Amino acid sequence: MVITFRVMVLDNCIGCGICWAICPKGVLIGKLRAKAVVASEEQCMGCFSCQYNCPFNAIIVKVNPKEVKRLS
Ligand code: SF4
Ligand code: SF4
Repeated sequence: MVITFRVMVLDNCIGCGICWAICPKGVLIGKLRAKAVVASEEQCMGCFSCQYNCPFNAIIVKVNPKEVKRLS
């Protein structure tokens, strides 16, 4: 089974650019000072780099709930 991930950007994102600079899969894109955009969630490999490095805790990465259902 391939686990997929949900990537959510919260409204307190200030568009600092860290997350889209560090994402190794190009999941996140954006323009400085605008809320980051999740462009290709299906490419997320769940490294959590974006979540750990966001200075504003504005990204949440979770295992796709559909996968959790399938695992249980
Ligand atoms: S690192 Fe956090 S604050 Fe910066 S653009 Fe990404 S989500 Fe927004
Ligand atoms: S968890 Fe990793 S691969 Fe997924 S969006 Fe964040 S930085 Fe990119």
